[in-house]
Amino acid sequence: MRIILLGAPGSGKGTQAKLLSSRYKIPQVATGDLLRETLDSGSKLGQRAKEAMDTGRLVSDDIVLEIIRERLARPDAQDGFILDGFPRNISQAKSLEKMLAKIEQPLDTALLLEADPDALIQRLAGRLTCPTCGRVYNIYTKPPRIEGHCDRDGTELTPRSDDNETTIANRLRVFESHTRPVAEFYESREKLIKIDAEGEINEVAKRLRAALRPYVSRKTIKK
Ligand code: AMP
Repeated sequence: MRIILLGAPGSGKGTQAKLLSSRYKIPQVATGDLLRETLDSGSKLGQRAKEAMDTGRLVSDDIVLEIIRERLARPDAQDGFILDGFPRNISQAKSLEKMLAKIEQPLDTALLLEADPDALIQRLAGRLTCPTCGRVYNIYTKPPRIEGHCDRDGTELTPRSDDNETTIANRLRVFESHTRPVAEFYESREKLIKIDAEGEINEVAKRLRAALRPYVSRKTIKK
């Protein structure tokens, strides 16, 4: 199964992509995570991406495409993948289309997670992440059992550096101007499914699984 999860920052793409990844045993390919890893490695590519990421703007297409190309070529992506945070603009969507046509692995569908802007801001402003295991919490909607510490490994939770007020506003603007047209691009190709992303994580997950049912082959369902 080859799918894209689209949605504004805070729509729950990352959380849902992780759940789908473990259910269908296909990797979550999140350009934001891959870029943060590149940045942490101190490489030149990471340095070039840093300024855009710090201010909530899009990293240039050449960097993102290089990262995606390399990631999709790895063995674990050969039976499918969940793209999370990519494509973020029309030019990336067209590049992806070409890339997948070349390897004769067309996309199954794109899913757009829709939520009210106030809910998005609350989710982003309250988000905390575990630097050790990557688990995501929210002080309003999904607090850890012990305040400020990961339920799984006890590590002190930290906010993402781009979850501050100015950057959040920029990221929401960038979504509307650059990424909303990507949803329209897939809609025009009859490859878009809209999903209500409000409510409990498990409810949203159920809606996604129902929408994906036609694309699931027997071997992708977790035993
Ligand atoms: P995310 O973790 O998806 O919220 O992404 C964090 C930041 O990484 C974004 O605000 C962008 O600066 C950058 N980024 C992630 N994915 C892309 C992409 N597909 N194209 C350009 N920039 C991206």
